[in-house]
Amino acid sequence: MVKGLGWQQGIRQHWRTWLMAPGVTVMTIALNLTGCLQPLEWAVIDQFFRLRPVEPPDPRIVIVTVDDHDVTYLGHWPISDEILAHLLLKLNAQQPRVVGLDLYRDLPVQTGYDRLVAVFRSMPNLIGVQKRFGERQVPPPPALDPQQVAIADLVIDADGTVRRALLSGVDEQTQALCLGLGAKAALDYLDTEQIHLEAVNASRMIYRLGKATFIPFQSHDGGYVNADARGYQILLNFRGDQSQFRSISITEVLQGNVPANYFRNRIVLIGSTAESTKDFFQTPYDNQQQDRASGMPGVIVQANITSQILSAALDGRPVIRVLPDVWEWVWGFGWTLAGLLASWKVLRTLMIEKQGLYTQVILHIVGLSAGLLSSSYFFFLAGWWLPPGLPLVGLVSSAIVYLGAHNQKLQKLAYVDGLTQVANRRYFDQQFAKQVQIPGCLALLLCDVDYFKLYNDTYGHHAGDACLQKVAAAIRQAVRRTDLVVRYGGEEFAVILPGADAIAATKTADRILNQVRSLQLAHENSTIAHYVTLSCGVVSVQVNEQLLQSEHWSVGVLIDRADKALYTSKQQGRDRWTLAELSPHELLHNHYH
Ligand code: GH3
Ligand code: MG
Ligand code: MG
Repeated sequence: MVKGLGWQQGIRQHWRTWLMAPGVTVMTIALNLTGCLQPLEWAVIDQFFRLRPVEPPDPRIVIVTVDDHDVTYLGHWPISDEILAHLLLKLNAQQPRVVGLDLYRDLPVQTGYDRLVAVFRSMPNLIGVQKRFGERQVPPPPALDPQQVAIADLVIDADGTVRRALLSGVDEQTQALCLGLGAKAALDYLDTEQIHLEAVNASRMIYRLGKATFIPFQSHDGGYVNADARGYQILLNFRGDQSQFRSISITEVLQGNVPANYFRNRIVLIGSTAESTKDFFQTPYDNQQQDRASGMPGVIVQANITSQILSAALDGRPVIRVLPDVWEWVWGFGWTLAGLLASWKVLRTLMIEKQGLYTQVILHIVGLSAGLLSSSYFFFLAGWWLPPGLPLVGLVSSAIVYLGAHNQKLQKLAYVDGLTQVANRRYFDQQFAKQVQIPGCLALLLCDVDYFKLYNDTYGHHAGDACLQKVAAAIRQAVRRTDLVVRYGGEEFAVILPGADAIAATKTADRILNQVRSLQLAHENSTIAHYVTLSCGVVSVQVNEQLLQSEHWSVGVLIDRADKALYTSKQQGRDRWTLAELSPHELLHNHYH
């Protein structure tokens, strides 16, 4: 019960602190919606792909590559119809399940077109490609049945990197559904195993395929903000770069150097890996820092897509899942709160010595960030993309905001008198030193409670404290907002009056004396009244340029004069003010001692 109460009190006392976490989270989410965290999220997930343990090559896929050596060997690019027909026949002799030709063949090339058309017609397992979307479009091979044509289009992020697979798109003119090459090859392969797409939720286009469930990519999934989500896209769960796929060069195939059954019952993808053909795409595997931004051949990207679908459907390999936006925000809020609590904890334990505070907070934040990144990585390994960028920014900002607010509080504490809540001596020293450097009128009041020792003796120290609080409040009420009230010593208060001449200053002194009298704080042993009274010393001076340049001009002069005037007030019977005359002339000619 008591514990519960303590907790409630804690919340009430620290409500500003507790509001920081939701505040910072909302700001981070707003920042995220502008898209400026997107590059960070991409950089992290790209790194995750590179860090991930390497998977074995997909046994169901073989790639026939055409590299620069092959182009030299064949003597012509694009390869002639004659050679292509020859290649396809050689391949087909081993009875591959699906052959994907990732080369544009919309026009006859050199000799042998008739032969190629005949081969095309004889291969129902062949898929050709067209480019359907974007500015530059390429028609499919005219001899192929439209059922055997796929699109080679890829979706490229704003930073030029491929991270999504375009499984299908709808042609805006013909309304025809076009399957991507990678997707069509996989679906045709699975068809022969009686694995077909089944609608789980037709309106949301959620489909089951064997062991896998596919949900279409939405424009705010994972670290994306406002991405182009047209067509049916999924996040590409890469298997790897070219080295992660079985491949053989076209030259070897043409020369007959193919192991037995190398293509049998597999998906064979034919495509260019020659740098000269420029069919390359930037992927997470291109580590720009390492200066080998060579890119991935289009056919390898298609192979990755095919492999992702096949291994998800057949082996249950994860497709990359994302959380709904709201849960992503909760995930961000959780880490922001953790950052706040860490700073709070450090500050609690180091309340007194401020030394090492920042180092401690930084260490905690670094530790939490490492925890965040590694948990994000483990989620990634399990097939979930929980973007760490938003929580990371939240975590760091909450620590900064908390430290900033705390610093402000400390600074305030350093300048305010704990008992009376007026400024303290330290603040007075700072401010007064500044004021005496400003040309114009300036006045200083020193007020001292009369017979205060006696007051303490009569009513006790505790009542004395309460009396000082009331006196301080009364003085504050009697002055302008621009005047500064200071607890100068035990029962002594100073007031700085910027711009006040002697007349204004003595008027203020009168107001202060009256205000304190009107409190009628009983002081029965005082010999001058039955209530608490003050005595004041007032000094006013006209600060001019000449004075500012004088070596005799200092804060000490004014304080000394006010003190002397206060002493005079005490001497002459207390409960009054005395004005100390102080002319610049006197100061300049060193008459002051
Ligand atoms: P005078 O009229 O000449 O100023 O007489 P006085 O008794 O006020 O002068 P004195 O300077 O001898 O006494 C000041 C007293 O103020 C002594 C000290 O006990 C008391 N005092 C100083 N600071 C505090 C405080 O924070 N709380 C309380 N209760 N008393 C304080
Ligand atoms: Mg006194
Ligand atoms: Mg005193």
